Amino acid sequence: MSSPGFGIYIHWPFCRSKCPYCDFNSHVRERVDHGRWRAALLAELEHYAADAKGRHVTSIFFGGGTPSLMEPETVAALIQRVRTLFPTAADLEITLEANPTSVEIDKFRAFREAGINRVSLGVQSLIADDLKFLGRQHDAAQALAAVRMAATTFERFSFDLIYARPGQSLDQWRAELDRALDFAAGHISLYQLTIEPGTQFEQAVARGDFRMLDEEHAAELYEATVARLGAAGLADYEISNFARPGQESRHNLTYWRYGDYIGVGPGAHGRLTIGGEKSATRQHRAPEAWLDLVKRDGHATRQRDLVPRAERLSELLMMGLRLKEGVPLSRIEGEAALPLSQALDQQRLRRLIDGGFLTLSDDRLAATSQGRQRLDAVLAALMA
Ligand code: SF4
Repeated sequence: MSSPGFGIYIHWPFCRSKCPYCDFNSHVRERVDHGRWRAALLAELEHYAADAKGRHVTSIFFGGGTPSLMEPETVAALIQRVRTLFPTAADLEITLEANPTSVEIDKFRAFREAGINRVSLGVQSLIADDLKFLGRQHDAAQALAAVRMAATTFERFSFDLIYARPGQSLDQWRAELDRALDFAAGHISLYQLTIEPGTQFEQAVARGDFRMLDEEHAAELYEATVARLGAAGLADYEISNFARPGQESRHNLTYWRYGDYIGVGPGAHGRLTIGGEKSATRQHRAPEAWLDLVKRDGHATRQRDLVPRAERLSELLMMGLRLKEGVPLSRIEGEAALPLSQALDQQRLRRLIDGGFLTLSDDRLAATSQGRQRLDAVLAALMA
């Protein structure tokens, strides 16, 4: 199997406005002191680099928030510093998430010059009313202009859509998907709308402002999505991610293959294995407190704990079974530090295989399409 790689995640916590479905660590601020933020992100990167000396970096990912609101100068400085601190892959993937507003599109060239070679655009919908419902700041024309610009500016690009929106019929989604596919290249992410705790949508649903699609209808849309994308040559390599061969997101594959990564910036998470022991790291979430702590201590680590073996196994399965390729049995034994027969309860495993949710071959455990659609329940039945 391909190596999980080693990634660096950099979190930019600011957005122009808060989308009603979003539970990410994103905040709206009138002013941002870009110079201060640049210095603090560089400091935290250096802090973790000391613990990960010599690791071969395969990807950098600027996520958020809205990292396309960063100054290209900050992006360039961080990429340069990664290259100084670590050996890097010849085909280092450097992704920036971007929103398709005109201000951000105008910065695309500067981001490319800073070293970005892949952009992931938050398009979310191609229908005007639905973009309004999702609280987005762009319209469909701007979204498509951004996609065209990304295609001509960067080596690789992807865009996201959110489906299973209230009232969305199968035919409506098929038509929107077909239109999106006219603009897609090697990668596309298609997420089902979910209601997350603490979001504006949670309150709206509680008030009865709208109703979510029932599970059966959402599953129908998912199946239609996989079939349509497959016919277009984009395989469902992960539950919500579709790619032509070789165009998968290498950074996200590192998460799903349970590789190591450093996370810097407010609320960023990391996993770092040193001497066989794996640590989970988490940075302070609130932007201003993070900034002050980095100034004081050189980093704003809120939590750094060893991950117990049982948790390593459940994290490996939680991430790896999202992938169609599944999880190598050698990794199950390695993370659990137990032979397979003891790492997993054989009766539970058999029941899930017989039920059509999992498959077990000589060298890997994988979830079927049915299993991936109900992954939380499958994991609960496997690990409880
Ligand atoms: S732009 Fe992205 S990160 Fe920011 S609020 Fe909207 S969904 Fe969340």
